[in-house]
Amino acid sequence: MSAVIVVHGGAWAIPDELAKGVVDGVKAAAREGFSVLKKGESALDAVEAAVRALEDNTVFNAGHGATLNIDGEVELDAIIMDGRTLDNGAVSSVKNIANPVSLARAVMEKTPHCLLTSRGANLFAESIGMPTVPTGTMVTAYERKEWEKHKNYVTGVMEDINSQWAHDTVGAVAVDSAGNVACATSTGGIRNKMVGRVGDSPLIGSGGYADNSSGAVSCTGHGESILKVTLARLILSHVEQGKSVADSSQLSLQYMRDRVHGAGGAIVVTPSGQWAATFTTKRMAWAAVDHDVLWYGLDASERREEQLS
Ligand code: ASP
Repeated sequence: MSAVIVVHGGAWAIPDELAKGVVDGVKAAAREGFSVLKKGESALDAVEAAVRALEDNTVFNAGHGATLNIDGEVELDAIIMDGRTLDNGAVSSVKNIANPVSLARAVMEKTPHCLLTSRGANLFAESIGMPTVPTGTMVTAYERKEWEKHKNYVTGVMEDINSQWAHDTVGAVAVDSAGNVACATSTGGIRNKMVGRVGDSPLIGSGGYADNSSGAVSCTGHGESILKVTLARLILSHVEQGKSVADSSQLSLQYMRDRVHGAGGAIVVTPSGQWAATFTTKRMAWAAVDHDVLWYGLDASERREEQLS
């Protein structure tokens, strides 16, 4: 069977001046993840590689370039999950790890736990020799400026946050040639979040889920809304009932909007290679490689294609 990868770069009202950067970024990450699949490596390896590429790209709110909390600090969350075994690993509120998705993978593979937070995650990183980076180097001048502009999140702009304001979480889902699925999601969360706030991204069933019996999902959008409806699992429960991946995503995102007034987006792939990229925000940058064709989009119903060279 043919391997497929889908990536997203966050669902929100992406301003025009960032549009080219995020589209180029998701296309490059999809190529990167697909090259791993092409070598015969696993879906798990592919989603980690794709998300690392997005974390390293400062245009996205993950790894380098992440948004800042109310105290002006970086606090990063990530999850990775293997659909073969349901094994998963996650980290939350880590400050100085360049690629939280790889730390999440180490939590999955080297500890008996699913999620390590904050200081514990850092102690674990140290124990396995994962290098740290000075936190200041993860902050971009763009983010520092935006943070200054929007300092009043907690008191003022709660309404905007749903669909219009600074989300750029990244994620990837893949199926490999053996039919195994995996997902990964990584984020700096929401700008000016309270210190210690953890959103949906690192929480299993909300920010992501992968199960070979149905598919893999990575979500983005308003974290508190995604948590309330456990969006990733909700989408897969529709897939399990026989709905298409596109319908399952639409229905679940619509439910989230109707029930808790939350906007967001999701990417999905099934073990048989069906995939979808769906959102209820103004825009979501996404890209996919399927049968050697690179698909990508940003605006609603936009679906462009390029031959992989
Ligand atoms: N879901 C993320 C969070 O709430 C934000 C995003 O997807 O952009 O932390």
